[in-house]
Amino acid sequence: MTSIRIAIADDHPTIIFAAAELQRYLAQASGQPVDVLDRDAISPEPPALWLGLTQHFPGLAHPPAAASADARFDDAISIATEAANGSICGNNPRSVLLAVYRYLHMLGCRWVRPGADGEYIPAVDLAQTEVHLIETPSYRHRGICIEGAVSYEHVRDLIDWMPKVGLNAYFVQFREGFTFFDRWYSHMGHPTAQTRGFTVDQARALVGQVVAEAKKRDLVYHAVGHGWTCEPFGIAGLGWEYPPEPVPPEAVQYLALVQGKRELWEGIPLNTSLCYSNPAVRRIITDAVVAYAQGHPEVDLLHFWLADGANNQCECEHCAPTRPADFYIMMLNDLDRTLSALHLDTRIVFLAYFDLLWPPEHERIQNPDRFVLMFAPITRTYSKTFSTNRAMPALPRFERNKLTFPRSIEQNLTFLQAWQAQFVRDGGRPVDSFDFDYHLMWDHYRDPAYIQMARVLHDDLQLLDSIGLDGFNSCQVQRAFFPTGLPMAVLGWTLWDKTRDFETMAHDYFAAAFGPEGEAALAYLTQLSGLFDPEYLRGEKSLGGEQAAAALGRVAGVVDSFLPTIERNIDSGTACWACSWRYLRHHAEIATSLASALRERAQGDPANAQLEWNALKQRVWQMEDALHPVLDVYLFTRVYDGIFKAGQQS
Ligand SMILES: [Zn+2]
Repeated sequence: MTSIRIAIADDHPTIIFAAAELQRYLAQASGQPVDVLDRDAISPEPPALWLGLTQHFPGLAHPPAAASADARFDDAISIATEAANGSICGNNPRSVLLAVYRYLHMLGCRWVRPGADGEYIPAVDLAQTEVHLIETPSYRHRGICIEGAVSYEHVRDLIDWMPKVGLNAYFVQFREGFTFFDRWYSHMGHPTAQTRGFTVDQARALVGQVVAEAKKRDLVYHAVGHGWTCEPFGIAGLGWEYPPEPVPPEAVQYLALVQGKRELWEGIPLNTSLCYSNPAVRRIITDAVVAYAQGHPEVDLLHFWLADGANNQCECEHCAPTRPADFYIMMLNDLDRTLSALHLDTRIVFLAYFDLLWPPEHERIQNPDRFVLMFAPITRTYSKTFSTNRAMPALPRFERNKLTFPRSIEQNLTFLQAWQAQFVRDGGRPVDSFDFDYHLMWDHYRDPAYIQMARVLHDDLQLLDSIGLDGFNSCQVQRAFFPTGLPMAVLGWTLWDKTRDFETMAHDYFAAAFGPEGEAALAYLTQLSGLFDPEYLRGEKSLGGEQAAAALGRVAGVVDSFLPTIERNIDSGTACWACSWRYLRHHAEIATSLASALRERAQGDPANAQLEWNALKQRVWQMEDALHPVLDVYLFTRVYDGIFKAGQQS
């Protein structure tokens, strides 16, 4: 049997890893042996698949670089192969890896969820293949942010999966990502198995491994975010749900004065604002950011956010006349001056969110090239998509600690436009920016079949450039692959190529994930998605309980009629397909019980609804061993606890 040869033109670890990935999948797809050889060891004949940076292939057609392109952040790939002969290259090591996965995608390989059971690798006669493409992704920023409850393995597998669908950036929130790991390892929310004792040192060690996995793939690494307003003052900010430790006496003077008191906001350090008019406060914060940037050269994009929460600003006489955003910009400019003096090129991400949605009145960013604007419309609706076609309202008046936050897309976009109006870089270029959004954080549980939400996500991603944003970082549970990974595949594929239409991607995904009866699975989940009525579950329909109850009442019948299809596929010889159908069988059970509980609620029987939900919650925790790679049971049950509790109160 002839062997396929892969030749590596570079010795960058990510390119060596890309070659190993190509070797592994090509061997599986072709059934032929595959050898990897370095440049010096290879003879001109027989031919090989060459892998490397574009500059090593001067004869090859490459994507034209945009004037603003920065090879550190902007990806580009070109592939020219016939049979086992040709070249696969990128403009940076990460892009070489992306090009390898894009090549395998063109051969028919799909990764429908993280892990080996999510790999669909078809049989390929390589001699019959030809791939020619030159691509630059639609958006620079294509990332995922850590949230929910996670084990190290969950994060590792997600990072491994991300470049397979074209994603390029990973974000670990907080210095240690403690709370996300703690929720998993302490089994938070579990009815019987909760433990204590997970430590910050353990979390720090896990983050070290996570960063190594991201760097192995040359992903853009984002870090920190919240915490700068407490950690540098000796107040731990590990997460939102921990009992507060006492504030060191010397730090009390720095806390925001709210309703006459300087104290922790609702007992949560991360949500506590500071007295930003105090120059010492601003200096302590920016010194901490500088020290962190110095100590962490591995961080590509360092997030510097103020306190979480809203309407928690200092009311002292020196702070009161000035918007929080003006103090924020003062700190950003100070930070830039110090970093520049130290010759550090760390990019700083700043955040338009809650009280900071109102842009500064007086201060302006001095060096826009240092910064990336992150727009985080956390209170928006997910029933409607971004659009610039609708009439835009005026910016609401800033009223300290009496702000309300908009649900409507239009009102959210007026804040974005107000911020964007503040920056014009040399040559009229807009400031680098991305959307930090939450489709897959809580909201996706309100569409338990994932079809309608995947479509909204897709449409939002398509429209990012029309609202002036160059990408997306998805603040989301890491395990959002239940019942399927459709929204996650759509996330990667659409950010790579915003012209791809939703229907084509959905058909493609279901064929790869489920095999010959994939169309039936797609039709089934589309029907369930409609019957659960996400807009109703979001509480965005003022009436309609009766209508919702009728639709929810149909779920059990739809599931029952589909069960035979599930059963006859569940022993498929293709491991990926069998696994997808197994998850769908678990989902059928959960969907039936959930619809029944929600129907009780819609019919105005909150007590019965609660009883049914309590029973289902126990059951889902029992299923966690089977479902944990694809479902974050902690966040799923927390969201539905909230939904059924709200039903009780109304
Ligand atoms: Zn103050």
